[in-house]
Amino acid sequence: AMSYYPKEGNPLWEQYSTAAIIHTINEYSKYSFDYPYPVAISVNGPVGGMEYPMISFNGPRPTKDKKTGEITYSKRTKYGLIGVIIHEVGHNYFPMIVNSDERQWTWMDEGINTFLESLAERAWEADYPMGRGDARFITNYMASRNQVPIMTNAESTLQRGNNAYAKPAAGLNILRETILGRDLFDHAFKTYAQRWKFKRPTPADFFRTMEDASGTDLDWFWRGWFYTTDAVDISIDGITEYGVSSKDPEKEKAWKKAQHDAEPISITEQRDQGSKRYVDRKPELKDFYNEHDDYTVTNKDRNTYAEQTEKLEDWEKKLLAEGKHLYLVDFSNHGGMVMPLILEIQLASGKKYIERVPAEVWRYSPKKITKLLVTDEPMTSLVQDPYWETADIDQSNNAWPRKATQSRLELFKSERGGGDMMKDFRTPLKSKDAPKDAAKDKQPPAPVPAAK
Ligand SMILES: [Zn+2]
Repeated sequence: AMSYYPKEGNPLWEQYSTAAIIHTINEYSKYSFDYPYPVAISVNGPVGGMEYPMISFNGPRPTKDKKTGEITYSKRTKYGLIGVIIHEVGHNYFPMIVNSDERQWTWMDEGINTFLESLAERAWEADYPMGRGDARFITNYMASRNQVPIMTNAESTLQRGNNAYAKPAAGLNILRETILGRDLFDHAFKTYAQRWKFKRPTPADFFRTMEDASGTDLDWFWRGWFYTTDAVDISIDGITEYGVSSKDPEKEKAWKKAQHDAEPISITEQRDQGSKRYVDRKPELKDFYNEHDDYTVTNKDRNTYAEQTEKLEDWEKKLLAEGKHLYLVDFSNHGGMVMPLILEIQLASGKKYIERVPAEVWRYSPKKITKLLVTDEPMTSLVQDPYWETADIDQSNNAWPRKATQSRLELFKSERGGGDMMKDFRTPLKSKDAPKDAAKDKQPPAPVPAAK
């Protein structure tokens, strides 16, 4: 690994360029094959970033203050430099060695490379500032109107950065974290890299290798994510709770009474409450039916229950005794793209757990489904995709009960752009006293004329 740069590139280049090349080769080799070339070179030049076999040109440099000569660089410049070196050196693997045709299918090198770049950045340091790779970064694009599918010829793509870099990278990340799991994905991906190195794969070769090496039917995923502009927007529409009827009249009649009592009292009844009725004034008019409501358990009820219970099989008795809670949850697919369900279930005791349901749950009915959940205690809340791992474009319909959206009303004018924090940090602190003292002798300031 070698770096060529002028002294104006320092201190960034001496500290990071060669280290970033070494890191790239270590990380990319883990997911594909050993780097087969004798050298890897990063050159500081006038272009932002451009790849060639064994050599790449990368732009970012620190800035020099014209007055003081002080050299500083922004966070964006630092991580931009490391990121672009990872990306351009990474292109040695895709498409220099796994030699897909970038003039036909930009995503096969840029998308796959952006995906591996994001893995390498995560391996560089925790909380590496990234804008591509994670599912949550792609939701704005997925919700936007002016799109063409990833599987569009490179000459005709719109929004190249999102279409050919960010969306395939996010898709591969979803495939790895949510659909296949890391072990299965990494094995299938490595198989693709090794099977197609020094050859010229087409999209179908990638799709087929990922499927046969993982032993998983992924047609639905390629179709939705690569061949359409459908987004993910799964909504929890409603929940119906079912209890298993025990047939025990003591329990069932009490349950029915509780249901009835939970109904709101009519407005007329509320206003009449406390008023003396005719039978209150003439108690001799009351009889049996004034003592018992519809929920009184009779001996006939008890006898019937005893006879029925005798006839039950053992497993039926057990199910009755367990007291499980059954919920039928209605989901609808507003975005078009199906995805696994990742359900965060919270119970009355506060216990929380995740239940994962494969995307095949949508196979007979891709627009609306009802899923049965069985819990040990009453369920108090349900959240679909709690970790934002499926690029769901509308989180507001993902929770039951619904959650209020948090936002802020901004009263201050916003500043544009991320600055150079290193420079801002070294800026001398303005003393509050100085201007105050100076202002003491002055008249109150005249009203400032509006800016033009
Ligand atoms: Zn690239």
